[in-house]
Amino acid sequence: MENVDLLLKNAYVLTMDQDLRKYSEGAVAIRGESIAAVGSESELIAGYTAAQTIDCGGKILMPGLINAHTHVPMTLLRGLADDLRLDVWLMGYMMPVEREFVSPDFVRLGTLLACAEMIRSGITCFADMYYFEEDVAKATAEAGMRGLCAQTVLKFPTPDAQSFEESLAYARDFIQRWKGHPLVVPSVAPHAPYTCTEEILRATSQLAVEFDVPLHTHLSETVLEVENMRRDQGMPVIPYVKKQGLLDAKVLAAHCVHIDEGEMRTLKHARAGVAHNPSSNLKLASGIAPIKRMLELGLNVGIGTDGPASNNDLDMFEEVRLAAFLAKGASGDPTALPAQTALLMATRLGAQAMHMGHLTGSIEPGKRADLILVDTSPLHNSPRFRHDPNGAYAQVVYAGKSTDVSDVMINGKWVMRARQLLTLQETELMTAAQDYATKIDYFLIHREQSVLSKLIAIGGAMEQESFEIQAKVRIEDTHSTLEALYRPEIEILRKRHYREYDTYFIFENSEQGYLRYREDDFINEKNEVYNVRSRLTLLGTPEFNYPLQAVLLSRSRYFAPAIHSLRFYREYFKPIEEREIEKERRRFLVRYKGTEFFINVDDIQKPPLGKFLEVKSTTWSRQDANHKAALANELIAFLGISTSGTTSNDYIEMVKSIS
Ligand SMILES: [Zn+2]
Repeated sequence: MENVDLLLKNAYVLTMDQDLRKYSEGAVAIRGESIAAVGSESELIAGYTAAQTIDCGGKILMPGLINAHTHVPMTLLRGLADDLRLDVWLMGYMMPVEREFVSPDFVRLGTLLACAEMIRSGITCFADMYYFEEDVAKATAEAGMRGLCAQTVLKFPTPDAQSFEESLAYARDFIQRWKGHPLVVPSVAPHAPYTCTEEILRATSQLAVEFDVPLHTHLSETVLEVENMRRDQGMPVIPYVKKQGLLDAKVLAAHCVHIDEGEMRTLKHARAGVAHNPSSNLKLASGIAPIKRMLELGLNVGIGTDGPASNNDLDMFEEVRLAAFLAKGASGDPTALPAQTALLMATRLGAQAMHMGHLTGSIEPGKRADLILVDTSPLHNSPRFRHDPNGAYAQVVYAGKSTDVSDVMINGKWVMRARQLLTLQETELMTAAQDYATKIDYFLIHREQSVLSKLIAIGGAMEQESFEIQAKVRIEDTHSTLEALYRPEIEILRKRHYREYDTYFIFENSEQGYLRYREDDFINEKNEVYNVRSRLTLLGTPEFNYPLQAVLLSRSRYFAPAIHSLRFYREYFKPIEEREIEKERRRFLVRYKGTEFFINVDDIQKPPLGKFLEVKSTTWSRQDANHKAALANELIAFLGISTSGTTSNDYIEMVKSIS
């Protein structure tokens, strides 16, 4: 007789081990933090003397579920912004809010809240990726959960680092201090190829190899990511990261939605694990990962919830069922991904994908005691058939709910007994989370009121409190106007020729001004486009009553290079109306009477407004603006153009009247 601390008897045991052994009248013996034995109840009772014996009441006893990819502190951002495209969601909402609010305190609270939710749904181990990861690790250990905690490294400043070197140093320090912890495996997370440089991919991989810890990342999540990679690097995502040495590390790659068979083989060869995120991929319309083929090739594919801001919950029961249904629906084959395989992905394969298969993921002697009890007696799971030996898998996967989990043990310790959480105070956590939500609500409501603050929130906007004078007059033909410019009194400093495509966003409150998205296609002598530039400008409302007839004065111009697409800005700023203007522009930088002006000779083709001459200058004071306005009028007269024709004000009215 061997001594053990605990004997769990009268259970239907699904071991999820290599041979998928199961015991309908089973028992598990636990010593310390580990599983000592698993088998039939009669065998274990005969072989072990337990300090404590618990009758499981016929419930299913199985390994705890493995959430192979998530961002746990984002529980605090759950429901913040939904039904948006990935870029608008990430760059327009998540990242600005994270820059403002994410702190060690935020991360700690979000992690504890997530742990409470995950324990309730039978998750015992998860793979995280976030900022201030040491605080995630501390909260995880406090909750008594097992976690692969990966410190994010990005090419832009993050809430916890000004540069990638700083986050890399943080990751090194964190890994050094936490390696060997009984619950937490520290790790590093280069966020994704498109948010990292080649240098970051190399450095993070080297760090993971140096300390022999896993590396957590996002790969091939969207078609756009793959298309951009092919365009910029001439290859898809997996060969690219391989070239950067990323696959030298023990990689856990989330998503892998758009990879081909060759890429799957590369991942398999590199022993990389994959985390499949069905809800997130569906919600963000990223596509359906070819997991059936990955499994056939022998890849370790786990299942993850992804962050609670893109799911929006941490319910692995839902995720497992969805994974099975999605594989069937997408292949037109109902035999694809049977319940048993889906559950295997959520347990042992998930742990293997996280490179933690030696610790957890199945009920086997020597592995840590990470297990759950699932009640299959409720109404939604009645009655029970026994003729099919695999019936229990179907019960858990197709009809089981996270609320059927009654007890959870991690590392030999109960963290939930009879649906009571033992390590966390969920009511307190929910109150604290609501306090954060109230603060974030205030921030967003305030931000959404102003186009300028929305522009600043997405970064890159430079505030230029300036005056712009703009004199616009109609001309008969461009040729004679261009000729008039070549006079000795006008010194031409620079000239350019381009086609300009402007989209003006018009807002409900006209005091917001209007936002212009401008694409300039630079044209050379051969009439070919040789360069394209996009810019975003917030223009103040013009002062119409400016004394000089032809001149328009604008204040407060805000300017930013347009790093996103027009579609992004449209979805982010939600204008009530848009106007498009297309023109052929010849632009001159000239000096007239010691003052520099831009002279634009425009042929406006859409809408067909005709030809215009524009004299422009930017200045920092109103006094100087007055001086320049007078000089601009003089310059127009000097060019022999009548200012009594269409003026700037008329022009604005003309543009406004086009619907
Ligand atoms: Zn993710």
